[in-house]
Amino acid sequence: PLVLGIESSCDETGVGIVRGRKLLTNTVSSSMDEHVRFGGVVPEVASRAHVQAIGPAIASACETAEVELSDIDAVAVTAGPGLSGALMVGVGAAKGLAAALNKPLYGVNHLAAHVAVDLVAEDIDGLTTPTIALLVSGGHTEILRIGDVVDDIELLGATIDDAAGEAFDKTARLLGLNYPGGPNISKAALGLLDGTGAPGDRNAVKFPRGLAKKQDLRDPERRYNFSFSGLKTAALREVTKAETLGADLRVADIAAGFEDAVVDVLVTKTLLAAADTGINHVVLGGGVAANTHLREVLAERCAEAGVTLRVPPLKLCTDNGAMVAALGAELVSRGIGPSDLSFAAVSSLDVDHVLV
Ligand code: ATP
Ligand code: MG
Ligand code: FE
Repeated sequence: PLVLGIESSCDETGVGIVRGRKLLTNTVSSSMDEHVRFGGVVPEVASRAHVQAIGPAIASACETAEVELSDIDAVAVTAGPGLSGALMVGVGAAKGLAAALNKPLYGVNHLAAHVAVDLVAEDIDGLTTPTIALLVSGGHTEILRIGDVVDDIELLGATIDDAAGEAFDKTARLLGLNYPGGPNISKAALGLLDGTGAPGDRNAVKFPRGLAKKQDLRDPERRYNFSFSGLKTAALREVTKAETLGADLRVADIAAGFEDAVVDVLVTKTLLAAADTGINHVVLGGGVAANTHLREVLAERCAEAGVTLRVPPLKLCTDNGAMVAALGAELVSRGIGPSDLSFAAVSSLDVDHVLV
């Protein structure tokens, strides 16, 4: 089936078109630049940007894919989880399109779509299941067990406070670095922002490993969960200390120590989930997948544990429409759905609701 997928859960307006498992186009426009001066995604600003971007994005996707809207067999859209107002723009557009074309509409789960994207990735043949998925972005941090991307997804753990990307963004702000924090913290850790070119010392400042003490790992409520809010406090302590002493803030050391702490806990818990479930495959998704240190440490520790690792191309890791179209096409070909045109966007949609 020819499926058009729309993604608008956060600050990316994504439109993807797939024919079965072939990706025809993946158009993404981001309002990230508009959020820089606020230090994080402002929901109202993101919603407005979606309203402006969605029409042109659909038109340009059709043009690149060389398809007419009337050729489309089904429309898929992210129904949740995500920012309410942002989701509503995509859902509204998708409903209008489906109604006008008189074609079925599939309201799909954003997290499942992050995993389903490998169905259409060009550098790989399909999706390996069962797998453990680590999804890390500005809005979420989850460990999932995936038996099947449509009807067997289990949430093993998630953050109890900040998302991993959010922790990067907030800590960056404390250190006087711009949004998005992720890439800037990485650069700072490598000594690329202070002009010295000297990498920071990952062990100079001690950062807490949230929920990763021995007793946390014994507690089923904490074993796969994350807490990153303590990292901000630790970074703030360093900032205050430097101010009080009138000393230079060792940004490279703090950035390196912070990054290592986030990565360490993410990787440790992912491999714990793999070992506990007896699953020897891990897939990474979300914008924090851009982090080089995360990819290196994860690859290293997966290899040590005899676990194979899949990291999709970065364009497919960050929010995009192709992943939504991929999941939509899978539902169409399995004869599941469509959604009723009256469904609403659900900002806290559970991961076991793959279709609303
Ligand atoms: P959602 O949570 O709905 O998936 P999002 O827009 O918050 O959406 P993405 O666009 O996938 O998430 O990713 C953005 C996040 O990824 C930001 O928090 C940013 O700081 C983080 N990020 C980007 N590059 C890096 C990096 N190199 N290292 C660490 N974090 C990064
Ligand atoms: Mg984003
Ligand atoms: Fe996402």
